[in-house]
Amino acid sequence: MRRIRNFIGGKSAPSNGPSSPVFDPAKGTVAAVVEHADAAVLEQAIARARAAQPAWAALNPQRRARVLFRFKALIEESMEELAGMISAEHGKVLDDACGDVQRGLEVIEFVCGLPHLAKGDFTLGAGTDIDVYSMRQPMGVVAGITPFNFPAMIPLWMAGPALATGNAFVLKPSERTPSTAVRLAELFIAAGGPADIFAVVHGGKPVVDALLDHPDVRAVSFVGSSDIAAQVYARGAAVGKRVQAMGGAKNHGIVLPDADLDQAVSGILGAAYGSAGERCMALPVVVAVGDALADALRDRLIAGIAGLTVGVPTDPVADFGPLVSAQHKARIEDYIDLAVAEGSQLVRDGRGIVVPGHENGYFLGPTLLDHVRADMRSYQEEIFGPVLQIVRVNTLDEAIALASDHSFGNGVALFTSSGSAARAFASRVEIGMVGINVPIPVPVAYHSFGGWKRSAFGDVNQYGEEGLRFFTRTKVVTQRWPEHGGVADPAAAFVIPTMD
Ligand code: NAD
Repeated sequence: MRRIRNFIGGKSAPSNGPSSPVFDPAKGTVAAVVEHADAAVLEQAIARARAAQPAWAALNPQRRARVLFRFKALIEESMEELAGMISAEHGKVLDDACGDVQRGLEVIEFVCGLPHLAKGDFTLGAGTDIDVYSMRQPMGVVAGITPFNFPAMIPLWMAGPALATGNAFVLKPSERTPSTAVRLAELFIAAGGPADIFAVVHGGKPVVDALLDHPDVRAVSFVGSSDIAAQVYARGAAVGKRVQAMGGAKNHGIVLPDADLDQAVSGILGAAYGSAGERCMALPVVVAVGDALADALRDRLIAGIAGLTVGVPTDPVADFGPLVSAQHKARIEDYIDLAVAEGSQLVRDGRGIVVPGHENGYFLGPTLLDHVRADMRSYQEEIFGPVLQIVRVNTLDEAIALASDHSFGNGVALFTSSGSAARAFASRVEIGMVGINVPIPVPVAYHSFGGWKRSAFGDVNQYGEEGLRFFTRTKVVTQRWPEHGGVADPAAAFVIPTMD
């Protein structure tokens, strides 16, 4: 059985810790075993990172950027290999896995501009003979903890800004999809990055807790489900760490009667069922404004679903593949039961789907529920599968209130041809990322990613300039160089200096 090991100092690091199976979700078999870091392995990763970090931080920024340029080139060259690894462990189709790599790669492209991005501010003559300047310095050793559903993109959201700004980075990927993280660390080292600057440790809660508790880990970036994000945020903050913790989502796609329905329906189908709905920016709720529109949308969604193909990740005609695990599949099926018990109408049931030759794979077909209401638990909670719920409302105001009142606030999309409706919507809705006729509004790499409410804990977002801020701390220097006989004030001052 293939063993996936911790990766420290550019090499596999065997561990005496527990291990867990990594599945092939298309076959429903165990494909590998991942070794979780024990205390000694974790200590080794952090100690080596700590020792190596000052020299990495001391490199001038263009030298660090050159490593990042080569890292970017190696990721591009390895696109197929990385996508294959992602698909094999996650189950998403290969094109979608390439997108996973590509969206992470774009963050590396952004941080290649580090020499410009990391410049500080300078004020000449802030007072008489006084200059003020600011600099951003790395935190030291920082950690990234990532979910199963984007094995390349999310590690790279964190690795890019953390490494570019001179930190040492310890990545704890999902134990369900661990291989890609190790390969990314190998590529960084092959690109000329120092071996101890990018380590990968595997495991679950015990390893996460150990990272949060370790005094040498100065900042923790987490992405995963909301309850765990809240715990991670609280535990890290309690010991004075900087923490950003992105959580789950339940994104609404709101459709107004003036929308281009063809565009809205194709956007919703892709965003609801792509990657089997296992995306934090999926659109699992469609809000139809007006009953006539709801009926028309439902008919078109039914027709669209009939044309979808569920298959193995390597099948070029498959729209989406299996779910990540049998346990996750069972959890989603329970939500479908719950939705029906709560009074939703099951319009299309994806349960029981069989992909020939892959009878034990974790497949679940596209499922559609109508007449879903805000008081249902199946609406309030994140399902994270290929399940689309239709909620019917009468006005745009009602739709805005519905999305805004939801406990999650990651993304939302409005489909309309009205500029004024779109403008009012974008300014009023209480959600962090808004799409106007764009179903999955994941911001580009030079903006920043982050939801509101239970979708994100902490106030600094992922990547873009916010990512660079998260992994650095600001120092501001106020200086003067008094000369004998110059303007320096010889008398002691007992009032706060004002520089008037
Ligand atoms: P998860 O919360 O189960 O796991 C996330 C990470 O936390 C993993 O590395 C895991 O090993 C670790 N972990 C698991 N249990 C833990 C515990 N009790 N204490 C500490 N750490 C623990 O999430 P997942 O199932 O891997 O990923 C799916 C979730 O992530 C969904 O809720 C999805 O919406 C969310 N997600 C959010 C974003 C975002 O940016 N907001 C992006 C992708 C995924």
